[in-house]
Amino acid sequence: MQKLLILGLDALEYNIVTRFRFKTLLQRDFGKIDLTPYKNKLITPWLWSIIISGHIDTGITHFVTYESKLIRFVAKILTSPALYKKVERLIEKIRRRRGQKIGTAYILHRRGIKVRPMGKQDLKVPTIFELIPNSRAICIPGYNLWKHQFLLDLYLPLTRCIGDPEMTRKRLRLQWLLEKKKMRILEDMIKSNDWNLIMVHFYITDVVGHLYWNKPIMLLETYRIVSRWINKIKRILASKNNEPVWILIISDHGMRRGVHTDHAFWSSNYPLKKKPKKLTDYFKLIIRYFERPEDIITF
Ligand SMILES: [Zn+2]
Repeated sequence: MQKLLILGLDALEYNIVTRFRFKTLLQRDFGKIDLTPYKNKLITPWLWSIIISGHIDTGITHFVTYESKLIRFVAKILTSPALYKKVERLIEKIRRRRGQKIGTAYILHRRGIKVRPMGKQDLKVPTIFELIPNSRAICIPGYNLWKHQFLLDLYLPLTRCIGDPEMTRKRLRLQWLLEKKKMRILEDMIKSNDWNLIMVHFYITDVVGHLYWNKPIMLLETYRIVSRWINKIKRILASKNNEPVWILIISDHGMRRGVHTDHAFWSSNYPLKKKPKKLTDYFKLIIRYFERPEDIITF
């Protein structure tokens, strides 16, 4: 059976990859995904849930949800259009009193309300991971984000780190540790050779883009490091497989001066017969690839 490796790089920016010619990231075929229809709500876990399911209405709406069914129900009412403005004002008041740029989830978490990232159990639609046998998902937002990644976002949210050099350094260090762990898991999986689909998500490209929004050199350096990692993965793949492995590098949105841009990036190690134009296109391409690979890519 075919093999597909999807490298999800959060916020990987089309204009940076092409302008600075990151060859490893560009691969042999590449393009842009149009996100203008959703440009006002480029929410990472939602965008990734679209990529893996092919649906827009996936059930993933926010980063955070509540363990308790009752609180989830109350939250749904409170964030309904009729009440949203009032609730927002109240939360703003609490936030000001605390004098910190903290999130609602953090406030509730500190008050003992159990929070968790939105994921698998909130999805209303099947994903590539259920449909393709022998598939593995490593820390995918909107699906199976790691607890550690979630806690990092909760305790050291990017909004609080920006402008605070101490917190920025801490967040950066801990984020790299998480990425290295993902990389180790990915390497072991690839070496085992017992898989058909692996998808991994790296956050660092988004995190650095936000934290160092005014130091573009930091983002370029991050792209360089990630490129080296991908080269390493490609070398391992080449040594393990006689059959071709399709490698897709994709992002959920772009990044410019610390703000998400309304286009995403994709690249493929083989030319694609039909190029993805929307986030919902990936799902069909991936499913089809496992049925008739020759319809999708030119080997
Ligand atoms: Zn993102």
